[in-house]
Amino acid sequence: MKVFFILSLFALVGTCSTPKHSVKIQNLKDSIKISDSALVVKYANTITSKELKTHLYKFSSEDFEGRKVGEPGQKLAAEFLKNYYFSENIASPFGKKNYYQYIPASYLKETIKSSENVLAFVEGVEKPEEVVIISAHLDHLGIADNGMIYRGADDDGSGTVALMEMAQAFNTAKKQGHGPKRSVLFLHLTAEEIGKKGSIFYTKYPVFPLENTVVNLNIDMIGRVDDFHMFNRDYIYLIGTNRASKELHFLSEKVNSTFFNINLDYRYNAEKESNRYYSRSDHYSFALHDIPVIFYFNGEHKDYHEISDTPDKIDYDLLEKRTKLIFATAWQIANQENRLALDRDNELLK
Ligand SMILES: [Zn+2]
Repeated sequence: MKVFFILSLFALVGTCSTPKHSVKIQNLKDSIKISDSALVVKYANTITSKELKTHLYKFSSEDFEGRKVGEPGQKLAAEFLKNYYFSENIASPFGKKNYYQYIPASYLKETIKSSENVLAFVEGVEKPEEVVIISAHLDHLGIADNGMIYRGADDDGSGTVALMEMAQAFNTAKKQGHGPKRSVLFLHLTAEEIGKKGSIFYTKYPVFPLENTVVNLNIDMIGRVDDFHMFNRDYIYLIGTNRASKELHFLSEKVNSTFFNINLDYRYNAEKESNRYYSRSDHYSFALHDIPVIFYFNGEHKDYHEISDTPDKIDYDLLEKRTKLIFATAWQIANQENRLALDRDNELLK
C-alpha cells in the first residue's frame, strides 16, 4: 500500500511537471522577437571575406613576430588595432586616442613584460550603460626555438579580424542613424596564451561595471574546418550558450535559423566534456562572474599551436559567414526590448 502510494505520487509529479516545463520553454522561445531583420542583413553584408582576408594577412604576418605577450611584435599588433579603430573613427571607451587598458608586468607571469588589452566602443543610443562585449585574444606564441614565427592566423587572428569587421559594421550603422540600443564593446584581450590573464584582468578591473555587462560573445578560432566536418564544412561549435541563460541559447538559435542556417554543433558544450573547452578561453573569466557567454570555435586541427597556422589555410567564406552570425547575434542582444535575462531572474521560467 505504502509502496503503491509513493509510486502513484511519482507518477502524478511526473505527469504534471513535464508539460509545465515544456510550456515554459515554448513561452521563452516565443518571446524572442528578431529585431530589425532588414537592417541586420544590410549591415551584416558590410562584413566581407575580402576585408577579413586583407586584415588577417597583415595581422598574422611575420611583422608581428608571433605576437608574444609583452614583446615588441605584440606591441605592434596592438598598435595596428589602435590605428585601425582611430582611422575608422571608431571610438575608445577611454576617449581620444587611448585604446589601451594597461596591464602591469607584476600582474603577468615572471619574465613577462607589461602588456595591454585593446578596446573599441560603439556607445548605445538608448541604454548606453548596458554593455554587450565581443572579445578575441590578440596575443599568440611568439617565435619558435628554430626561429620560425608562430603566425596564429586561426588562433586567434580569425577572431581578431572578425571584431574589426563587426566594429566597422556597428559603427557604420550608427553613423547612418541605426546605432545599437545598448553599447557594444570590442575587447581585444592580451595574455590568453599564458592563462587567460587579459580577461581575468579585465573582469577584475572592468571598464564598465560587470553587473551592467549583458553578455560576452568570445571568439577563439573561427577560420578553419576540423576533421569531424570535412564533408559538412558549414558549421561552428558553440559552447556555453545555455549555462546561465536559456534565453541566450534560444536567441542564438533563432538568429541562426532566421538568417544563416549554419550547423551549430554543441558536442563540446556537454558538462564534463573531456577537452574542457568551456574553461579554456577568455569567456570563462566572464562566466565566473555570472555573465552569460557564448564561445565560438571551429575545433582543433593539425596546425593548432604550430608554425603552420598560416593565413593561406583559412576558409574565408566560412570566416565571413561565422562573423556575420556573431554580428547578428550581438545586434539582437544589443537591440531587443528586454535585457537578456539570467535563468534565475527570468519570469518566464518561474
Ligand atoms: Zn586561442
